[in-house]
Amino acid sequence: MRHLFICALLAFGICGCYQNAFAADNSFSPKKIRLGDTVVSILRRHGFSLKEREQVLRSSEALHSFLLTTEMSYFLSTAHGKTALRMHDHEQNLVFNVEKSPHGLSVKTTPAKYLTEVQLIKGKVRGSLMASIFSQVKSNWIASRFMDAYILEHDLERIPAGAPFWLKLEKQYDGPHFVGYGEVLQTSLELGGEQIRKDFIRMAKGGVFVNAEDLLSDRPFYAPVGYVRIASLFQKGRRHPITRKVQSHLGIDFEAPPGSPIYAPQRGMIARMGRNRAAGNYVILRHPNGIETAYNHLRTLPKDLKTGSFVRVGQKIGEIGCTGYCTKAHLHFAIKKNGRMVDPAKYLKAFPSHFEEALQKKVAHLD
Ligand SMILES: [Zn+2]
Repeated sequence: MRHLFICALLAFGICGCYQNAFAADNSFSPKKIRLGDTVVSILRRHGFSLKEREQVLRSSEALHSFLLTTEMSYFLSTAHGKTALRMHDHEQNLVFNVEKSPHGLSVKTTPAKYLTEVQLIKGKVRGSLMASIFSQVKSNWIASRFMDAYILEHDLERIPAGAPFWLKLEKQYDGPHFVGYGEVLQTSLELGGEQIRKDFIRMAKGGVFVNAEDLLSDRPFYAPVGYVRIASLFQKGRRHPITRKVQSHLGIDFEAPPGSPIYAPQRGMIARMGRNRAAGNYVILRHPNGIETAYNHLRTLPKDLKTGSFVRVGQKIGEIGCTGYCTKAHLHFAIKKNGRMVDPAKYLKAFPSHFEEALQKKVAHLD
């Protein structure tokens, strides 16, 4: 609680603007989001008619991209003859305030401003790493962020039982209410008898987990996104013994909010681009040494590039989208070497090229 108190003082002292009605209003209480909930189902639960639900959705474009998870809560107040709902969208960093009273309906969308408390969590690996972290924090988001910190460089499948780990994470509060976890700020994990620490370094657009060693990495490609969040790894499929069907995932999925920029991970030339049913909008770059990289599900095809165009390392070649076979916005990134699909994790640095200089400076200042 001490951290929270200090942060609260800072927020109120330096930035007097953090005085929203919510902080002072104790009539709100947290409600758990249930499996399968949508904004519409929550509104219906609290007595919003079909017409009112439509009106709410019409009044905020951002509400349409609001993804709810069961790790989140929303807040409800039914005081003073009003029904007020407050919902926090961590992806878009927005707060939605929906209010219904005898005077009518109002929807306000404001940028989220949280008070942040930093918490240290320690544990030992028992079973899988993901489960070991989850048993301490009860948050899939936090457990998967911890994995993101190591997954490009290390095999996390077989960590010996008892390997110690710790992490520092952000807990976010809106007024008195805990609304969710923010970033994992630091991690440490024993791998091969060595304690490997990573720091999350926030950048103007994005942020990545690195340490001094990662900056020396001689891998040929930079990350194609500024916020490395892995949703799915490369998996060479085995043929199913009965169906004879091969199930593989021949790339890495990077999850990021729609519209996030995608960067060329190395200099190259547009070999092909277009659209198909599975890949959606895709771009394929050709690089030196018989390597091609592929980018699927892009929001749109890059308008300033065409087949044969040369791109610099770090040049924007598209934006995260969800075209083709896709349920949540992400980039499917694949590498082909001499005609064969290879595991991109073995070729990638943990950060995009244009972060490098700033990271060198920041990492140099860490203890
Ligand atoms: Zn994929």
